[in-house]
Amino acid sequence: MAWHKVRIEHPKLTLLGATLLILTGLGAVFYYTYQSLRHDMNLITAKQKNVFDVFYQRAKILEVENMIRYADLHLEQDIPAPVSGPDTDYLYGFDLKTQQRFANIPLQYPAANLLNTFRYALSDPEVDNIYTLWNDYRLIGMVGNEPLIPDELPPMKINLMTIPAWYHYFGCISFEIKRTLCSQDEAFVSDIKVNNFSRRHTIAMFFPFLYPSGQGDYKYGLLGINIVVNEAFEDVLLPFTNINPTRTAVSFNVAEPCRPFHLCLQKPLMRTKTGTDLYLKWSYSWLDFIKLTLHSVAFDIYLIVLLLLMVTWKQLYLRLRTLAHTDHLTRLPRRDILNQRLLHEHDYLMILDIDNFKSINDLHGHSIGDAALTAFARYLKGNIRKIDTAIRWGGEEFIVLFRGMGNDDMMSQSAKRLLTRPLQIPELPDPITFSAGVIRIRDYLTVTEAVHLADELLYHVKQHGKHNIACYEGTTIRLIRPLPDEAESA
Ligand code: GH3
Ligand code: MG
Ligand code: MG
Repeated sequence: MAWHKVRIEHPKLTLLGATLLILTGLGAVFYYTYQSLRHDMNLITAKQKNVFDVFYQRAKILEVENMIRYADLHLEQDIPAPVSGPDTDYLYGFDLKTQQRFANIPLQYPAANLLNTFRYALSDPEVDNIYTLWNDYRLIGMVGNEPLIPDELPPMKINLMTIPAWYHYFGCISFEIKRTLCSQDEAFVSDIKVNNFSRRHTIAMFFPFLYPSGQGDYKYGLLGINIVVNEAFEDVLLPFTNINPTRTAVSFNVAEPCRPFHLCLQKPLMRTKTGTDLYLKWSYSWLDFIKLTLHSVAFDIYLIVLLLLMVTWKQLYLRLRTLAHTDHLTRLPRRDILNQRLLHEHDYLMILDIDNFKSINDLHGHSIGDAALTAFARYLKGNIRKIDTAIRWGGEEFIVLFRGMGNDDMMSQSAKRLLTRPLQIPELPDPITFSAGVIRIRDYLTVTEAVHLADELLYHVKQHGKHNIACYEGTTIRLIRPLPDEAESA
């Protein structure tokens, strides 16, 4: 039987299967892209330096009293018009109660050398403002080149206790007596906010200081360093040529919502000394995520595999189908391949049953019985043509479908040939014989009817001496090999 002649029976099922395969493959590619993004995110966050650590160290060397000293020195002077020029740092001061500016001083050297540590810290591109908040309600700070220092501060709460960092360090009642801080944290790290001067997103790190003013009294306050988010986290926010998130953000807020219909990833990026985590967040619109997927290696591989499958799928399908429909002992197709179409592609159907097979099993054992079945299948295939089809119908029963048999005579000749070539195998003393019934396949016959008709003929043979083939001649049953008494009378 030529398998490639079997037509695919369920085109709808095949289409469904193919669609499922394509979709599953695509799903796998999307999943892979998502996982590799998470992997990239892990790598990027793992190698990120802790920005906060760097500034804990810097803050230790800043002597805040120098700021107030330098401001006091120049207070009597008129506020000069800002001199714009490269590398000019400015010291500014605001009275928090009036919110008015009282100083805006371009640093002049060598007198300004006592602020060199501040200049050094400010030269870092990540820092845009260093300032001090004093308990005498003065805000004194330093900014870099060409500053936009306003004449007046935008409205702000002048009660220092309402500033979270101030409260954190100086909010406890025992402070006035003991001169100790309420908290021993090395720095209070603020949320991300838009800076009043530079209008950029910054994180402020606050460090407390205590400073004996020389009159038996203490001055104290906070040193603030503004870290520009985009500069400090440039590595994780900007350089994604192949990762391309729709939006990137760093945030202390874990629960910051992801936009609707966006794919959002987040990962702790670094931890402040007070134990707060800063998160890196990437979000992708579906369109951007699809674009990313289409440019991935996984998608290329998917396309190649799909192409290969398309080229070979028919071979593959037929191979699988063959395997599914093959009897594992005899290597013949199994009974379920016999359908209406296959039946009517043929002219004759013969059902064969090995004679006394039970006694082969009983006398010689089951494995010899198996060997006999295998040999019989091989014998059948060897004695029919390629265009005919042999099927293991079940047990020791077989069906052969004959094609291209013009008439009953041709069929009788073939049947006779089968009978005259007994099958002898070395394992058995006697030849293996069979009984069979053969019918012409009429257009109106169903598979069940055709098999039933042939089965009746087979039964007839079993009743009349076995080892023979019966067929119809009109409505009477004729045996291909005449019985001995018939032969005698003939
Ligand atoms: P008859 O000449 O009337 O056909 O007699 P029989 O002994 O051939 O028929 P019966 O139906 O009584 O016995 C068939 C036996 O075939 C019974 C069963 O155990 C055996 N058989 C069925 N399938 C297999 C198989 O795969 N391997 C082996 N070894 N035996 C099988
Ligand atoms: Mg049987
Ligand atoms: Mg039998």
